[in-house]
Amino acid sequence: MQVLFPLPPPVLVPVQGSAARFPVRRIFCVGRNYAEHAREMGAVDQAQGLEPPFFFTKPADALVAGDGELSVSYPPRTSNLHHEVEMVVALGDGGSNLTVDQAKSLILGYAVGLDLTRRDLQARAKEKGHPWDMSKGFDQSAVCGPLVLVADCGHPAGGEIGLQVNGEVRQAGDLSEMMWKVPQIIAELSALVSLAAGDLIYTGTPAGVGPLQRGDRLEGTVAGLPPLRARIV
Ligand code: MN
Repeated sequence: MQVLFPLPPPVLVPVQGSAARFPVRRIFCVGRNYAEHAREMGAVDQAQGLEPPFFFTKPADALVAGDGELSVSYPPRTSNLHHEVEMVVALGDGGSNLTVDQAKSLILGYAVGLDLTRRDLQARAKEKGHPWDMSKGFDQSAVCGPLVLVADCGHPAGGEIGLQVNGEVRQAGDLSEMMWKVPQIIAELSALVSLAAGDLIYTGTPAGVGPLQRGDRLEGTVAGLPPLRARIV
């Protein structure tokens, strides 16, 4: 007798100017990729200076993606939900131990995203040496606007990245401030895991992270990409 198990629905990101949708496999994130943000998180050691960026993950199911204003639920068990606007990279191909040049050729497109964070749980986890999963990888913690293909946007490496909340500027930076540039991020990550088509990479946030409240309206922007709009409900 054949036994059928329920299959999870694929998590899809719309592609701008196309009916195609990008199926998401995994979500990787870079921590502390902008020096000013590392400083505001108190991550700079007086003697050793800046530590290199590092990786963490979110489950693909944590993604909220789409066109227009996205609804994001304020998560339970936190009273300090923080915004982190980030450029998101989508991979159209995979590989391991890639050179920086090979890494660049894997990129299918770019989007504006939010790495939402339960900052109170993260602070407790840091203090106790516990994992970050519940502070970073909770439901609806990864928000992503429409994907723009490389053919249409090139490879954004400079230009403004920012976030407004209720029309007020909260985060403002420049892509050129990234410590690890996008191809280097992919090459570094490919030395740790085998990358594959469908992987998304959140490339880190500039300074200015802060708390969100229910009802807040967010607009995340990266020069050359369509804005990401979201509302906290
Ligand atoms: Mn982040």
